[in-house]
Amino acid sequence: SSFKELDLSPVMMRALERLGYETPSPIQASVIPPALDGHDILGQARTGTGKTAAFSIPILEMLDPLSECRNPQALILVPTRELAEQVFQEIERLAQGCKTAITVLAGGKHMRRQMAQLEEGTQIVVGTPGRVYDHIQRRTFKTQDLWCVVLDEADRMLDIGFRPAIEQILRACPKDRQTMLLSATLADDIQRLTKRYLVEPVHINC
Ligand code: AMP
Repeated sequence: SSFKELDLSPVMMRALERLGYETPSPIQASVIPPALDGHDILGQARTGTGKTAAFSIPILEMLDPLSECRNPQALILVPTRELAEQVFQEIERLAQGCKTAITVLAGGKHMRRQMAQLEEGTQIVVGTPGRVYDHIQRRTFKTQDLWCVVLDEADRMLDIGFRPAIEQILRACPKDRQTMLLSATLADDIQRLTKRYLVEPVHINC
């Protein structure tokens, strides 16, 4: 298949061309259409499959460029600071030509800078559950305008012990949001999370 069949915007097609992405990877071909239709996604996928672009392309396509909303609209939760940086960089590359504000909220020292970025206004947040929940509790992260939440490498986040933070975050998010969960394995604890927080997800296994 080709990206042309996925009905993407000209600006996204140009970004993909510049990146040298010629054809969608299997997970991209499977995730992008139902995600653009607003479905929840339960995806079994490892790293190196192109899963970051699989959830990032639909998010960037669905962002309203004319919206004056300054609160985050999409939240991507990842297990580590390193992965947060990688996901941030991939979204930045895909968002070339757009004025999309993306903020990383991961542990470490940058609390003040993160608060300033949230205060300035941001559309996409990439972060680790502990730090994101910290900002939600401080009310520096306002969740009311989130329409998409991604749980990337959900199995690793549970292994690290992020389940309580993840559940608190999801309970603080609007109920009518779209949720995408990606995980290398779909063990019982992932199934439980899925049953509780996803609505009729489309299952994808790549
Ligand atoms: P990920 O699984 O998201 O970590 O992506 C693995 C690598 O594949 C990253 O370096 C991406 O930049 C690259 N990539 C993602 N999608 C494509 C594609 N459609 N064509 C070529 N490379 C891609």
